[in-house]
Amino acid sequence: MTQQMNPNPLANYFRQAKLYTPLPSRGRYYADGAIEWPATGEVAIFPMTAKDEMAMRTPDALLNGQSTVDVIKSCIPAVKEPWDIPSIDMDCILISIRMASYGNKMSVEPKCPKCATQNEYELDLTNILAKTLGAEWNDFVQIDELKFGLKPLSYRQINAKSLRTFEEQKLISNLELSEDMDQEVKMQRFNESFKFLTELTLETVIDQVEYISLPDGVVVTDRNHINEFIANADTNIYREISATLSNNKSRYDIPPMKIVCDNEECKHEFEQNLEFDAVNFFGLNS
Ligand SMILES: [Zn+2]
Repeated sequence: MTQQMNPNPLANYFRQAKLYTPLPSRGRYYADGAIEWPATGEVAIFPMTAKDEMAMRTPDALLNGQSTVDVIKSCIPAVKEPWDIPSIDMDCILISIRMASYGNKMSVEPKCPKCATQNEYELDLTNILAKTLGAEWNDFVQIDELKFGLKPLSYRQINAKSLRTFEEQKLISNLELSEDMDQEVKMQRFNESFKFLTELTLETVIDQVEYISLPDGVVVTDRNHINEFIANADTNIYREISATLSNNKSRYDIPPMKIVCDNEECKHEFEQNLEFDAVNFFGLNS
């Protein structure tokens, strides 16, 4: 109310939306109310504020995903609950925010694995954006009589899983380093870690099964029923679901850059992966 009584004369100079873009999901796979999908089919992207930029560069805050969530909320007002963003939208969202903040070009400095020359390379992010927008998510797989509905993981699920993986890997490398531990105890701990990571992989697949529909029309959505079924199903079923999901994922993956080393005496050809996690992405070009 006070704001209305005393409007800020600077209001017209606040940041404006810099670009409008569709998202790979086209607004599907979000929980109710998590996104206000615009009638135009394109969401407005605002550039980062100074506060957003600082939040993205705080390493500790990045690990738990909260900074990414806050920045998305700030830059894409249509997204009401960033934790619900489906995995297939994440790269597109981060790339758009970067484009709105720093422009379409991004310079990268891939290091030649052969001669260690720091190559200079300029990337046009519009091409990468177009690739993620053109990809399609296959949202079911029919296996004999059963139809399995597939849904991409949410950012919340991805974040929780990568935190658990990170913790477990830390544990494993501590084990490797510890010299005074009994060999047998050590082996047992390794086995436990291995089992943990295998279960996590299994869980990641099952979490993407949204429903199972039966030939008589019954549709099972109960998580416990789905979990129990997969635990008792033929391994072929798991394998086929898993293969469909990795095909889905590969369609959204950003292909590695093909680099020819700048060094005249080297000219080595190599591939460089682009990772659009917040750290790599917003730490650059600063
Ligand atoms: Zn080289």
